[in-house]
Amino acid sequence: MPVLIDTHAHLDEIKDLDIALVDARAHGVETIIAVGQDLDSNRRVLEITREYPGYVYAALGLHPWLLGNLEMKQVQENIDFISSHIGQAVALGEVGLDYDKRVLKSAPKPKQQEVLTSLLKIAADENKPVSLHSRYAWKDCLQIVMEQKIKNVVFHWYTGLSSTLSQLLEAGYFISATPAAEYHDEHQRAIREAPTSQLMLETDCPVYYGRENRYRSLPSDVLRSLKAAATLKSIDEERLAEITTANARLYFGI
Ligand SMILES: [Zn+2]
Repeated sequence: MPVLIDTHAHLDEIKDLDIALVDARAHGVETIIAVGQDLDSNRRVLEITREYPGYVYAALGLHPWLLGNLEMKQVQENIDFISSHIGQAVALGEVGLDYDKRVLKSAPKPKQQEVLTSLLKIAADENKPVSLHSRYAWKDCLQIVMEQKIKNVVFHWYTGLSSTLSQLLEAGYFISATPAAEYHDEHQRAIREAPTSQLMLETDCPVYYGRENRYRSLPSDVLRSLKAAATLKSIDEERLAEITTANARLYFGI
């Protein structure tokens, strides 16, 4: 059975986490990176890493979707919390930009960019990799991480343009494949275009996937990401698991 790492999971949002993690292990998932998205979520993520030591590792972040609900004072509280607890985490994330119209209505571009820049300074100072959300903001995301001289960035669930993809790959950054690799055109194209040496696997669970048959994902669904990516890359599943797991180990230092 392939040994897998789910490099981007919202474990704090999963009910019956014990059962989900037993199931994940049974499917060969040997490590999970739990990403946080605000103060409560980051606190819970750190708790989960203490409950599953050596199995779950934390990333601390502030999701662009949540900025609209926060005053700048609260944003600063989030940044301070991340800054003072980043030593307990293997990465910064989930952070990023989201230029979807609904998000921009409550969190305009300048606010998102300012917050991301402050968060990236923590990653730069502490030399931590970044799990980056970049929906409809791929170019600006790339520009900001390069300006901030961040060495390790994974553009999670990348669905952006080929031209930005080739630039981010040239900069040495990664993308990660979700179960949407089974059916989503842009995501499939990105996975085809990225070399396996710059590819990781994830679920973004508990996100809903599927077109006709919608299902709520769990960490064990990283197996779907593997199978779909292996088909797209015309490579043996076992071999792709080895490569992506080695990539994730090196990248997150675990
Ligand atoms: Zn996510």
